[in-house]
Amino acid sequence: MAKKDYYELLGVDRDADQKEIKRAYRKLAKEYHPDTNQEKDTSEKFKEISEAYEILSDPDKRARYDQYGHSGINDQDFNFDDFAQGGFGGLDDLFNMFGFGGGGRRRSGPRRGADLQYRLEISFEEAAFGGKKEIRIPREEECDRCQGNGAEPGTDVKTCPECNGQGQVRSSQQTPFGQFTQSRVCPKCGGDGKIVEEACHKCNGSGKVRKQRKLTVNIPAGVDTGTRLRMSGEGQAGEKGGPAGDLYIVIDVQDHEIFDRKGDDVYCEVPISFVQATLGDKIKVPTLEGKVQFDIPEGTQPGTTFRLKNKGITHLNGYGRGDQYIKAKVMIPKDLDNKQKELLAEFADISGEEINPEHKSFLKKIKDAINI
Ligand SMILES: [Zn+2]
Ligand SMILES: [Zn+2]
Repeated sequence: MAKKDYYELLGVDRDADQKEIKRAYRKLAKEYHPDTNQEKDTSEKFKEISEAYEILSDPDKRARYDQYGHSGINDQDFNFDDFAQGGFGGLDDLFNMFGFGGGGRRRSGPRRGADLQYRLEISFEEAAFGGKKEIRIPREEECDRCQGNGAEPGTDVKTCPECNGQGQVRSSQQTPFGQFTQSRVCPKCGGDGKIVEEACHKCNGSGKVRKQRKLTVNIPAGVDTGTRLRMSGEGQAGEKGGPAGDLYIVIDVQDHEIFDRKGDDVYCEVPISFVQATLGDKIKVPTLEGKVQFDIPEGTQPGTTFRLKNKGITHLNGYGRGDQYIKAKVMIPKDLDNKQKELLAEFADISGEEINPEHKSFLKKIKDAINI
């Protein structure tokens, strides 16, 4: 099947900036997360949008995608390929269903449990500094009543008479290309080679029960929306003694009231008066670790950006941190009283500023008023 366009998947324009892409991804991730949406194919949809976000949020991968389409993207560019779609079955079942030629794979051996995904929403600060977060995940675990074999304790488990315990049966079929011998999963025992006389009362013979599991997630400093953390062995239980799958925590960082994040740099705007901008001042500016003093230099122009080195976000899995950028937002005063207006008008006058006729008449009006 042809892969869908990443921009269409996220519903953004091709020239969308990182912020729009992130916003679109977060909205969709919430909507299609397998835990919040019980409809059947949301897991596949979630995988698709996560993949789209992974590529489009990385300038390098995005550039390759823009130029070459899907063929510019390698499997190494994302790690979603090994994600099972939840539940059981999947590839092994497919192999069994189409197991032509007698070499079909048996289903009765141990199988690894499916991987799970969990979307974890964290605050801006938690992403910046890391922390611990407790979560509850619903997952399949081995039934403790039957130890996973599906038989009610005390009842018999017999060898399947249909396949003599082989788990598969063969049938021959005449086709225009010759005779084919087909090997397929035994329909009586479903490939187990065993027949359970009485299904376990707790799990109805599935060998698994659904449980809420409490886990503590260690969030490293520097994670961002879309970062995945793997918790080994915390996915679904394996089958027939197979290992459990893994749990992938997909991080979703909330927006901050003041700060914007670009990579590991943090941006904010600081309002200052036009007097402060003109004369300079010592002001307090917010940082991730609280307020710090900052010297606004004399003659600061609107929109000037200052850098606070190493006040950004810690690099994920590395040393050092990003910077903080402060943008001066010069506030122009409104609703001045007459005294203030008079001073400004005088200031313009002293500066020899050519002001427009309206203002001139205004200045004259004030002078007249004062002279009365
Ligand atoms: Zn059971
Ligand atoms: Zn059988």
